[in-house]
Amino acid sequence: MATVRLQTIFLILLAILSAWAAAKPSGSPSGSDVGSKKRLLLISFDGFRWDYDQDVDTPNLDRLAWDGVKAKYITPPMLTMTSPSHFTTITGRWVEDHEVVHNMMFNTKTNLKVPHKVTLRRSEWWDNGVLPLWITAQNQGLKTASFHYPGGGANYSGQAVNRAIVEESGHIDDNETEWRQNIDTVLSWFSEEDFDLVTLYYGEPDNVGHMRGPDHPDRKAIIRQIDRTVGYLRDGITRHMLNSTLNVIITSDHGMTTVKKRPLVDEIVLNKYLDLLKLASFEILDYGGFGILTPRPGKEQEVLEALAKAPNLTVYRKEDMPESFHLGRSQRMPPVVVIADLGFNLNSRFIVYVNKGDHGFHNGEMDMKMIFRAFGPDFKKNFLSEPFDSIHIYPLMCRLLDIRAEPNNGSLEHTADMLIGTHDGGSRMSPTSPMMLTFIFVFISTTML
Ligand SMILES: [Zn+2]
Repeated sequence: MATVRLQTIFLILLAILSAWAAAKPSGSPSGSDVGSKKRLLLISFDGFRWDYDQDVDTPNLDRLAWDGVKAKYITPPMLTMTSPSHFTTITGRWVEDHEVVHNMMFNTKTNLKVPHKVTLRRSEWWDNGVLPLWITAQNQGLKTASFHYPGGGANYSGQAVNRAIVEESGHIDDNETEWRQNIDTVLSWFSEEDFDLVTLYYGEPDNVGHMRGPDHPDRKAIIRQIDRTVGYLRDGITRHMLNSTLNVIITSDHGMTTVKKRPLVDEIVLNKYLDLLKLASFEILDYGGFGILTPRPGKEQEVLEALAKAPNLTVYRKEDMPESFHLGRSQRMPPVVVIADLGFNLNSRFIVYVNKGDHGFHNGEMDMKMIFRAFGPDFKKNFLSEPFDSIHIYPLMCRLLDIRAEPNNGSLEHTADMLIGTHDGGSRMSPTSPMMLTFIFVFISTTML
């Protein structure tokens, strides 16, 4: 009887041990690899819509799909604009929390409006009490750098990113030679100067998307250029002997859609519906699909009613915006927000906008979704992820760098399955389990006999 029971216990323990062995990550020498020191490169290609690689030959991006992780697409936060979205990725916070609510620094009282590239250096626009990943990582002993990534040029609570290169006004976005030099530079920071985290930003394909439109052959040409750059990056990682330590995430900040123009549609000119000078004390309305304005005292209802009559847009009181926008609690956001229907640009008084493509529209629109790829020692191969919100990239990066995250609105549960050695959102058996099981086995055996 005792022998039968002993055999049963032995078989159960054998099953548990087999399950433990199967749960061990296959591609890494030990189960603790995810937690050990690794380096991380985050690359953002501005305005890389989720499907831009589907009508162009992109061998290197395709290779990433079976050599790493590909998400079907990911969703930017509202609003779908460069600085707000990039800052959500690097902080894991909604726009209403980090308060970088526009590409342009503005002041509704003084009517100050600062151009995007100048705003990149203005700490008072970026530093609102939310710490970006660079600073958090530095405070935990890591060395970080930002190469052209929005927000990298600011100070946070007086602290600068260890090394920051800020994009100058007039920077040429599509110079392939410079793209390669930037990759060489960043890889040498990892291999020769022991940096742990670098964020690298490229202004394409956003620029071409605006100038020519997402369907233009030039957009396809720039995607081929990006693909060659990804190939150059892969070769560079090998050349710098970073294959076993460097994880790479490639993503973007929003998509792009074709701007609808006359004679196809009636373009939106808001001054047709309300006298802006008389009713508004501040406005940014000539900026793609997203507009903001501050009504003059006592004029809010009049503004809202007038805008409600304008076709092809939705007008919101800040307080009444859908919770899913995560914009309503912002202190900085003016009281009235206008979001145009997909492809309809907002114009205040005249149509001076020459862009063929734009963004800033509702993040539920497929044209606003963007790419996500990841590869490196901690990522599974040939893993196709379901879509997720870009806010969840932040806890993933903290996990990859093995640092404590700041309070954030993201969750690792959307990305944990991409990682080697994680199961059901990250619960792993301890490497000491076999010893413990042997002890239990011996203990039970001796007490039963
Ligand atoms: Zn952008």
